[in-house]
Amino acid sequence: MFTHLEPDGDAIGSSLALYFFLKSLGKDVRFIKPYRTPNSVVDFPGMENVYSGNDFDFSRVAILLDASSLKRIGKPYEEIFPRYKNFFIIDHHHGPYFDSTNIYVDITASATAVLVFDIIKKMKHDINNLVATYLYLALHYDTGGFYYTNTNKKCLKVASKLLEYGADMGLVMKYYERDASSISKMGFLLSKLKASEGISWLPISYKDFVNFSLEPDITKGLIEWLRRIKDCRVSIVFREDQPGKVKISFRGKNTGKLNSIAEHFGGGGHPEASGAVVEGNFDEVVELVLNYTKKEVFGD
Ligand code: 5GP
Ligand code: MN
Repeated sequence: MFTHLEPDGDAIGSSLALYFFLKSLGKDVRFIKPYRTPNSVVDFPGMENVYSGNDFDFSRVAILLDASSLKRIGKPYEEIFPRYKNFFIIDHHHGPYFDSTNIYVDITASATAVLVFDIIKKMKHDINNLVATYLYLALHYDTGGFYYTNTNKKCLKVASKLLEYGADMGLVMKYYERDASSISKMGFLLSKLKASEGISWLPISYKDFVNFSLEPDITKGLIEWLRRIKDCRVSIVFREDQPGKVKISFRGKNTGKLNSIAEHFGGGGHPEASGAVVEGNFDEVVELVLNYTKKEVFGD
């Protein structure tokens, strides 16, 4: 099993849910450790067995969760995954998909976890409390705790079922915990946010990244504050975590096009939550992306 780099709550949650489900069927299953797995999940059940070696048996079946492109899996796995003779993809992104033969995709699903839930149910199996916990974490994460506009009837029904199956909210809360210094750093970084004409943005240069010894996933918490700014339709966090390499996160309200804006810069995602990695001079990347986004969302 593979998922995307810098795995988020849905990537970790749906993968570990499927992992424990397959284990409960007696399958010999291996979860490949995603590039830049956040520290907050290292002691989660199942993480002690993640595989980070380089011995791959291509005669087995490979499954990719919560990602559509090979680039999204990150090095070195983006070259390894397509070498499997049998592989399939379970996902809720728009694509484009690097291979369309074996995909189980529903872009209306709030999280990949909804699809994993459906697969288990179609197989007429019960869901144990660990599987329920991970599916619930994934759903909670990808809907921002059931408040983003991708929250729908189906995901709330699934969430309710997962609580019946014994989902443990304690683990969900733990996912969001950070040490005190991380939260202080977030406060400092937030003091640098900018907002004008319906856009809010936060530039984090490589200098900031090194000086504050930031964890890459710090941006996930920050962008939530930016999107709460009144009258802002688009929020963008720029994070230069390697010199000249800028990770961009987009969030929106009723724009309907942040996936296509991210695609323009080589990334992808959902209509109101997307991302990309752009190479170039930091200030120039910030200006280029801001101008393009303003033009696309607000017109000239
Ligand atoms: P985040 O800003 O939390 O990293 O990502 C938000 C959404 O955009 C997620 O659905 C994620 O799958 C997608 N996304 C983020 N970065 C990239 C990227 O570099 N490439 C693609 N294709 N999608 C991305
Ligand atoms: Mn997802």
